[in-house]
Amino acid sequence: MKIAIRAGAISPFLERGLRLARGLRFRLTLSYVLFFSVLLVAIGLFFRQTLRSEMNGDEQALLEEEWGAAKGYMRIENQRPVWVADSTDPEEAYIVDRLRHIYLLTDANGYVLENSETYDSIGEDSPQEIARILGLPKPEVHIRRDKKGIPYLIKAGAVRDEQNQLYFFALGRSLEGNERTVSGFTRTYFLLLPAMIALTSVAGWLLAGRSIRPLDSVAHAAQEITGVNLSTQIPNRGANDELDNLIDSFNLMTRRLSQSFEQIRQFSTDVSHELRTPLTAIRGQLEVALFTAETTEQYREAMVNALEDVEKLSSIVRALLLLSQAESGQLVLQKTPLNLASVAADVVDQFQIPAEEKGLTLTALLDEGTLALADRTQIERMLSNLLSNAVKYTPKGGSINVRVGLDPEHTGWVRIVVEDTGVGIAPENLPHIFDRFFRVRNPQTNKIEGLGLGLSFVSWIVSAHGGDIHVESSPGKGSRFDIRRPAAPVAPQTATEPAPESVTP
Ligand code: ADP
Repeated sequence: MKIAIRAGAISPFLERGLRLARGLRFRLTLSYVLFFSVLLVAIGLFFRQTLRSEMNGDEQALLEEEWGAAKGYMRIENQRPVWVADSTDPEEAYIVDRLRHIYLLTDANGYVLENSETYDSIGEDSPQEIARILGLPKPEVHIRRDKKGIPYLIKAGAVRDEQNQLYFFALGRSLEGNERTVSGFTRTYFLLLPAMIALTSVAGWLLAGRSIRPLDSVAHAAQEITGVNLSTQIPNRGANDELDNLIDSFNLMTRRLSQSFEQIRQFSTDVSHELRTPLTAIRGQLEVALFTAETTEQYREAMVNALEDVEKLSSIVRALLLLSQAESGQLVLQKTPLNLASVAADVVDQFQIPAEEKGLTLTALLDEGTLALADRTQIERMLSNLLSNAVKYTPKGGSINVRVGLDPEHTGWVRIVVEDTGVGIAPENLPHIFDRFFRVRNPQTNKIEGLGLGLSFVSWIVSAHGGDIHVESSPGKGSRFDIRRPAAPVAPQTATEPAPESVTP
């Protein structure tokens, strides 16, 4: 029997809980609840303190009044307090009675002359304390607690009898009522607090859900996007907020992906088409050799034709391989200090014979001080592709001109121009001429051989050297390929051999 133990297996319930706890909604709610809990506790404590000090302030104002009244109603005669109140006036009697509720009178040494029962439970002031208070310029107000812990507001200070003898007098008011109100408030508030936090949590959960709902819809829309509907765009909510920003960036990304997918699709179609043509031709030639050829001459002709097509096929594959190596970064440029004029002179020389054969004039104006840090092989390939096109697409009697020199408009840049008086390119085709396998299809160019890869190479070589290429062309008049790129920071003597000032046929 086999017993399978799943390492780290957790119950689906726990797993769901963990996923929820890690979720943005939960974390948003948690921070919201934490923030509000701290705020509610702080508000409660603040109100509690405010309530207490407000009520104690009222109590102190009453104590001040009573202090004044006590000094009016009490006289000290023969070291004894005498409370003078009109015994026929019940109100006065009540006031004096009230004043005598919490009080203490001692002589300057702390010997108690009279005190109330309540003051007794608070505890008499020590002689040191009495001496301290008697030494103060003004009476002092402080809080003291009795044996049961009930707080009292006490005002204590010096009073004098008619012989100007000093006595210690203390008068108090109970703060028990205030304390009860404050603790009642505290109890109710903090009992209600969990309910308020629970309410805040529910509100926070709902609010967090509401704020991340658009995220869910974006995620949902993103999940719907596959390789076949990459052009699908997530609708922008028009709020112009961070989420809209994210949606726009996402849409931009899918647009770019869609374009890349489209290019790959187009490329596959083009490659298969380009490969099929010579393959069909080879197959045709082989069929001729197999089924219809009778003489050695006919066999030979079929084989030669098949070989030509094989050659064409392998040149397509070679070019494709090189282009893909270039574009994937595998083809590393071997940059050396180069005299561009000298390189151009060599390439122009190679094209003199084909140009002459076609009845074309090929001229060059090359500034020998045109130095650049560049890959010689690639620069030669670039010039040779441009010149081969110029020769191919310029009818008999036309002219081709190559110019290499410093760029007068951009200091520190060099410029290579190849122009011809050929068939030109229609404006609608111009944006596509650098695409792989793109060839202009018209009666003038249909018979001209080509793979549609030459300008793709030119484009890659220019950008790999940090330059840019600009094309101007008008059908029937000619084309001009204008390349600009930064010059090399090299000294003239480090460059390869100097080029002639100009080369003419
Ligand atoms: P191809 O092998 O067809 O020449 P390229 O990539 O070099 O491929 O060029 C792409 C297309 O651009 C050509 O098919 C041609 O129609 C057009 N083209 C390129 N250079 C010239 C030029 N100098 N004059 C006219 N058309 C040109």
